[in-house]
Amino acid sequence: MWSRSSSLILLLACALQGQQRFVAEEAHMGTVFRITVYADEPQDALRAAFDRIAQLDHELSDYKPDSELNRICRAGGGEVSDDLYRVLQQSLRLSEDSGGAFDITLGPVIRLWRLKRVPSQERIAAAMGHVGYRNVVLGDHSVTLKVSEMQLDLGAIAKGFAAEEALKVLRARGLPSALVAASGDLAIGDAPPGKHGWTVALEPGQDREVMVLRNTFVGTSGDTEQFVEGGGKRYSHIIDSRTGLGLTRSVGVSVIAPNGMLADALGTTLSVVAARDGIAAAQALAHKYSGVRALIRLDPVGAAEEERDHHQDHE
Ligand code: ADP
Ligand code: MG
Repeated sequence: MWSRSSSLILLLACALQGQQRFVAEEAHMGTVFRITVYADEPQDALRAAFDRIAQLDHELSDYKPDSELNRICRAGGGEVSDDLYRVLQQSLRLSEDSGGAFDITLGPVIRLWRLKRVPSQERIAAAMGHVGYRNVVLGDHSVTLKVSEMQLDLGAIAKGFAAEEALKVLRARGLPSALVAASGDLAIGDAPPGKHGWTVALEPGQDREVMVLRNTFVGTSGDTEQFVEGGGKRYSHIIDSRTGLGLTRSVGVSVIAPNGMLADALGTTLSVVAARDGIAAAQALAHKYSGVRALIRLDPVGAAEEERDHHQDHE
């Protein structure tokens, strides 16, 4: 999912109250990052924002053989960059909070499912022998992997972090009115000139809820085009960490959260918890985080069941 970057394309620029609206796209982390910004001369800032995303891809990718993450996995640990350290710290915290529903050590299992057919029980069991977030031990800017052949996979958290970091770069360069989107992961800055916020359509499952947001983060997970079919079942690319199997219940989650890592990772986590234990259990987990709001859709047998939580208003 982490591919090489393509060149910067400026798609659109139109005048609005002195500042122009610019949209630029670049491929990173196996998806397209789209930045929308209000500015006069955004080129340098856009370049810097995309460069920051590319740097994070180089550090956090499990696809690139030379990424910092993969070097650490091959070595069984070592000194880590500030970026990787922060992502590992947030990941482990979320694993603790979710009873292991979120687990970045599922890499060996995720690699089996990426072969696009249902793996045998034997292969899943063998891969699960190298899994377990408790085997990741953080030191003072270092990490130790306690089991052999561990493979960390940050696919559920890195895009949200990268979107947030790109937004920070734009703000630091005087462009606070910006939105960074990496498919369902959004980092939303100040409102466009003259507006209250950015109009965003959240689509957990087939649902669509339009909101006006500013200075917040969104993560969307669940039903995508990524799945594997076999034995009459459809398995999601999101893995139940207890069984090593892709989720088979249809689930869609959108999370609004105060930071990008949490929004992205919590979307994946709540998908696992909702599919396994139901919407109430997933919302209970969401409640552990202040400023988090989750929209969850779960289809038991085709019929839609939905619940929303409004415990904190962001608009
Ligand atoms: P997407 O990346 O398609 O937007 P997600 O944010 O939900 O969707 O991330 C899905 C990815 O997360 C998978 O492709 C895999 O790399 C990773 N993953 C799958 N299951 C888990 C899990 N239980 N815990 C942590 N990461 C997971
Ligand atoms: Mg995610």
